[in-house]
Amino acid sequence: MAIERTLSIIKPDACEQNLIGRIVARFEEGGLRVAAMRKVHLTQAQAEQFYAVHRERPFYADLVQFMTRNPCVVMALEGDDAIARNREIMGATDPAQAAPGTIRDLYGTNVQENAVHGSDSLENAKIEVGYFFPEAEIY
Ligand code: ADP
Ligand code: MG
Repeated sequence: MAIERTLSIIKPDACEQNLIGRIVARFEEGGLRVAAMRKVHLTQAQAEQFYAVHRERPFYADLVQFMTRNPCVVMALEGDDAIARNREIMGATDPAQAAPGTIRDLYGTNVQENAVHGSDSLENAKIEVGYFFPEAEIY
């Protein structure tokens, strides 16, 4: 197993419900550590760029509107197999399909408002972590 870093976002729906601490605890209990953390209110341009891979999807405009409606918490999580581990702890995209006890099962509302984001590959994790954190701010 390799030590990796991945980008996690606690999305506006979860921040609005005062769930930041409970969500961070799930990651910590799951073996990941917070290497960097910041609250950020994404601009339209930032959200559009961050989700650019989904530009052609029918839910893109709604997704950008959702992600910009209130602040998020962005984190770099670090640990063994952090990218896959984070996605396991998060659960499936649709909370209705998410395994019991995962963050999306516990705290997700629907397929859009699903509480958390996690990078999906080593390559995207590097890009996404770098999007929010300079190397000097990751500990
Ligand atoms: P994941 O976040 O699990 O990697 P995707 O990359 O496929 O999922 O989608 C990015 C985000 O877009 C999802 O987390 C969710 O907020 C939103 N989304 C995905 N699929 C849908 C959908 N069918 N309808 C509305 N929003 C969606
Ligand atoms: Mg994704």
